[in-house]
Parts: sequence; structure tokens; C-alpha cells
Amino acid sequence: MKGLVFKSTGSWYKVQIPTGEIWNCRLKGKFKLSKTGINNPIAVGDYVTIEGEEGQAAQGIITDILPRENYIIRKSVHKTGHAHILASNLDQMMVIASITLPRTSLGFIDRLLVSAESFRIPAKVIFNKVDLLMEDELEYAKELAAMYTSIGYESVITSVPQSLNLDQVKNWLEEKKTLLAGHSGVGKSTIINAIVPDVQLSTQEISTFANKGKHTTTYAEMFQIGPDTFLIDTPGIKELGLMEMEDENLSSYFPEFKPFADNCKFYNCTHRHEPGCAVLVGLDKGIIPLTRYESFVSMMEGDDNRK
Ligand code: GDP
Ligand code: ZN
Repeated sequence: MKGLVFKSTGSWYKVQIPTGEIWNCRLKGKFKLSKTGINNPIAVGDYVTIEGEEGQAAQGIITDILPRENYIIRKSVHKTGHAHILASNLDQMMVIASITLPRTSLGFIDRLLVSAESFRIPAKVIFNKVDLLMEDELEYAKELAAMYTSIGYESVITSVPQSLNLDQVKNWLEEKKTLLAGHSGVGKSTIINAIVPDVQLSTQEISTFANKGKHTTTYAEMFQIGPDTFLIDTPGIKELGLMEMEDENLSSYFPEFKPFADNCKFYNCTHRHEPGCAVLVGLDKGIIPLTRYESFVSMMEGDDNRK
């Protein structure tokens, strides 16, 4: 039967079977790694075929993996040429940020968005905790949300105590597999707890999600919060923001650059100081947001501007 992988801990996998039950599964002995250089054969979000293990209740053997729609990958810092698939079959990435307590830098947000582009995963941006902001900061948060929306990433400001735009967030999550990304403390679990009716999330799941920060999780994990609605929480997301990009490709991961970049005089334009650079014209005209261009330059220069 078909199953959906919720958690992988190395040799054991938690797999949801069609009834909704979760089984503990192992890999079939001669399961082959399909791609060289990938350390883990099965990732959270994978659809697999499983067989019940004889004489064992709720235990199975994973016999096959179905083709992945997409996946996010982390290169190994220890072994070059090795990589780890963090999660697969994602519908979207939801970046959760806050202007204060903690402050999320735009560089960090833009790195996550570049990663999402490179994996071809649509992304949205949420600025939470806006109830903590002074009037001018609130205006700034609104401007940021409008800016990200204008370049193709739907974005809202939210506040849990004020129930601000939580319906919108809920609506965005419905019937999708969403990778939640953002610094710890920005309010990810609080938002989820506020929008998910208790009936749909088992106490165990909700407490695991809410307590995730308290122990060091090394593995990605998926949570079901409604019919066909899943959240993926991955501890590897910070490193993801640091993923090496090929410089030549970087500008293609800034979708708002594209209409301009196509018109640069030189096909290999780096959009920095070349004559006839159309991206710089887009920047001058204010169509390409300055903060996005700054993130681009900073990533080109290899700065760690996530702080
Ligand atoms: P996570 O690490 O991203 O899951 O963050 P948490 O959900 O644990 O939230 C961290 C802290 O921020 C908690 O004390 C929450 O009560 C608080 N918090 C979350 N959302 C909001 C919000 O919209 N406004 C305010 N003022 N506090 C919030
Ligand atoms: Zn250019």
C-alpha cells in the first residue's frame, strides 16, 4: 500500500498509511540509493510503498519510493559531494519573520527565498508579532509585506494576540504541504496553535511541535494539521540559507530581476557595474526594491548577511 513519510530517524521511519494510522517502518534490505551522493534514501514528505511486517502490528517494510515532485537538500559540511535530503514533495515554503524580538534580517529572508526559488518551491512571507511594534515600525512592516507581495511572494503582517490575518495564513496552509522556516522565537508554534482547531491535531503532535525547541532535533518532521494539510519543520533550515549558489545563477533566483536581466547589454552581466545593465535601471526606477538588490550583492560577495 501507499504511505507518506512523516519522520525519519535514520533506520526507522514513521509512515502514514491510507487509514491515517502511523506505522513504524524499516527499509527493505536491498533498498538502493537512487542517486549517488545522497546520504539518505528516504526523506520526510516522500510517498512510499510499504508492506506489513509479518506478525507485527503497525510495523512495515518500505519497498519502494515514488518519484519526488521536488525536494530540498543540504550539502554535507563534512563530506564534499555528499548531500542530505531534508524534505520532499513540498507545495510551498512559509517564511515566518518578526521585526523585533527577535529581529529577522531581510538578508536571512532573501536567502530563504533564493533557496525556495532554487528548489522551485513557491514561497510566502509572514511578519508576525506586529502588536509589539510602534507606529512607524508597523508602517515599515506593512511596507515590507507590500514589497514582497509586489515581487511575487504573497506576504502579510500578523499578530496572534490581535488575531490579525490569521485567517489568511490558515487559508494559505489549507490542503498543502508547507515547509515552515524562520528563526526560533518568531512565533511559528504559536501561530499554528492559534489557527488549528484542537480536534484536528492530536495532543501528541501539538506538544511535539510546541516543544520542538526544547530538545535538539536532528531530523525533519511532518505534522498533519488538517485534511491534506501538513507542516514540515526542519532543523536544517538555517544551513539551507547558507547553501552555496553558483554566482552565474544567483540573479535568476531573484524573480523580479528577470524582466530586466534579459535586457542587459552583456549576457553574462553581473548587474554590478557593467555598462548597459538593465537591472541597475530597474533599481534606479524603484521597480527592483533596494533591499532585494542589497541582498543580491551581499550574496554575490559571499557575506553571511543573515544576522
Ligand atoms: P517559534 O520558536 O517560532 O515556534 O516561536 P514560539 O511560537 O515559541 O513563540 C515565541 C514567543 O513569542 C512566545 O512567548 C509566544 O507567546 C510569543 N509570540 C508568538 N506570536 C506572537 C505575537 O503575534 N505577538 C506577541 N506579542 N508575541 C507572540
Ligand atoms: Zn545587468
